[in-house]
Amino acid sequence: MSHEIYRVGPGSEVDLTRHDPRDLALCAAGKREGRRLTGELNAELEALQELLWAEGWHKLLVVLQAMDTGGKDGTIRHVFDGTNPQGVKVASFKRPTAEELAHDYLWRVHRHAPGSGEIVIFNRSHYEDVLVVRVHELVPAATWSRRYDHINDFERRLADEGTTILKFFLHISKEEQRERLQARLAEPDKRWKFARGDLAERARWDDYRAAYEAVLSRTSTPWAPWYVVPADRKWYRNLVVSRVLVDTLKELDMRFPEAEVGLDDVVIE
Ligand code: ATP
Ligand code: MG
Repeated sequence: MSHEIYRVGPGSEVDLTRHDPRDLALCAAGKREGRRLTGELNAELEALQELLWAEGWHKLLVVLQAMDTGGKDGTIRHVFDGTNPQGVKVASFKRPTAEELAHDYLWRVHRHAPGSGEIVIFNRSHYEDVLVVRVHELVPAATWSRRYDHINDFERRLADEGTTILKFFLHISKEEQRERLQARLAEPDKRWKFARGDLAERARWDDYRAAYEAVLSRTSTPWAPWYVVPADRKWYRNLVVSRVLVDTLKELDMRFPEAEVGLDDVVIE
């Protein structure tokens, strides 16, 4: 079975209640085997990232979105473990500043898009502008409802200019979120991560689910597909994201640059 089972087909209507956050279809053998496979994929990703950097043409944009405690940070830590920080960047999108709000919502995003040879991971992204913004009615419906098309066009432009785009929705259950929030309260080293505001967002779980369903249904395109990643089990989430990244980079058919001719005769004195 392939990770394609998690890709959202362009134009398909997504109903998240039909996606099991505890699904293990790609690794029924369980956690130990899953971790071993992820370890192998880590090594492959490391080599592919080096090649991407050396070739210096393709650009890779990875978008991570999830409900609070969904595991964006953990995914970044585990999946990119071992890659060269020189070619891998993370851009985190928080509540916009006054200057950012004074511009259109894609203004702050575009400048973080990857350059040649780079991988950029968006920890939250322009999708917040049709998620939190929609749920909290921060702009009128007439405004946010136009954004799906803008976003598809924006991503199309990046793709046309050499950017490979992969988007992951880390899908956790409401019960799993309860446990993770509880754990943040219980463990002294995790308390700093607990924000009361997360409870207010949790209370709007169904509104967020509807907003995510609209995102997944309307913005999974051939040039920038969404993957709904079962994320209640962290090891499985890491495995699925790693798998998609490695398989996608392999398909780019990248080459190391040609070396100078005549190097065989070079002797270093
Ligand atoms: P995270 O929750 O992603 O792990 P964090 O806990 O370090 O990050 P938060 O203060 O929770 O930091 O920052 C993210 C917050 O910013 C989220 O509540 C998110 O919805 C909000 N946010 C991001 N982009 C926007 C936007 N365009 N408009 C309004 N709020 C936004
Ligand atoms: Mg937070």
